[in-house]
Amino acid sequence: RVAYVNGSYVPHGEAAVHIEDRGYQFADGVYEVCEVRGGRLVDETRHMDRLERSLGELRIAMPMDRKPLGMVLRETVRRNRVRNGLVYLQVTRGVARRDHAFPKPGTPPALVVTAKSIDFAKNDANAAKGVKVISMPDNRWERVDIKSVGLLPNCIAKQAAREKGAYEAWLVDDDGFVTEGSSTNAWIITKDGALVTRFADNGILKGITRTTIFDLCKREGLRIEERKFTIEEAQNAREAFLSSATTIVMPIVEIDGRPVGNGAPGSIATDLRAKFHEVAEIA
Ligand code: PMP
Repeated sequence: RVAYVNGSYVPHGEAAVHIEDRGYQFADGVYEVCEVRGGRLVDETRHMDRLERSLGELRIAMPMDRKPLGMVLRETVRRNRVRNGLVYLQVTRGVARRDHAFPKPGTPPALVVTAKSIDFAKNDANAAKGVKVISMPDNRWERVDIKSVGLLPNCIAKQAAREKGAYEAWLVDDDGFVTEGSSTNAWIITKDGALVTRFADNGILKGITRTTIFDLCKREGLRIEERKFTIEEAQNAREAFLSSATTIVMPIVEIDGRPVGNGAPGSIATDLRAKFHEVAEIA
C-alpha cells in the first residue's frame, strides 16, 4: 500500500507526519471519506464542497486546488489498485511549535491521502440481514457540522455499540431526540411512507450520502420530512436505516433491543440501497 503525504507517495508502513503536526496535537484538522466504485470516485464534487466548507469554518487553507487534489485522490486509488473501496483525505493546520493559538499565517496545511479496498459483499450481506443499533447520549461539541478529525466521542460510542453486538450507536440529544449515528446519518420511515431524518444544522454532519438520497427520493417520488425524532418513534416506525459513503443505505432491524417494523430489512430502504448509484455522481 501507498499513502500520499505532503507531496510524495510513500510506502504505507513508512508514512508519517511530524510530532508537532496540529492534527496530532489538537485534532486541528478535517477529513473526507469518498466511496470508490469501479476505480472511480462517488460524489466527488459534493465531498470537495464539504471539505472547502469545513476548512473555511476553521480558517485552514485548502492544501491545493480542487483539480490537482482530485488527481492526487485518483493517483492514490490507482497506486493502491482499489476498484471498490474508499479514499480518505485529511487536512490539518500543519506543523508548528505547540501553542493553542493558530500558527503564523503562511504555515502550510498538511495533506494526507490513503485508499483501501472494502469487501462490499460483506457490506451487502449485512444489509440483507439488517443491523442493530443502540442509543447513547450525544455529548459532542456544538459544531459537528464541521467534519473535524476530533472524533473521540464518536469512537467511544462506536466501541459501546461493538461491545453490545450492535453495528452503530445512535446519538440522542438532551431533549431525547436522535441526532445521528457515530459515523452515519439516521433515518426512519413512517407508517405512511415518509422518510424522516434530522434537519442539518450544527447538530449533525450533513452527509453526502444523505444529500444524494434526497435526490433519489425526488426521482422516486418519496416524501422527506426533515425533523427530529425520538428512539421510541424509531422503534415504532415502519423502517429505519443509516447512511454513509461506505455503508450507502443500511437497513436497521433492531434499536435498543426492540425490533423495527417486522424485524426484517424494510423494502423502501432496500430499494434505495439498490438504486443509490443510479443518481450519485461517479467520475
Ligand atoms: N455523520 C457522521 C458523524 C459521520 O462521521 C459520517 C461519515 N463521515 C456521516 C454522518 C455520513 O456522512 P457521508 O454520507 O458524507 O459519509
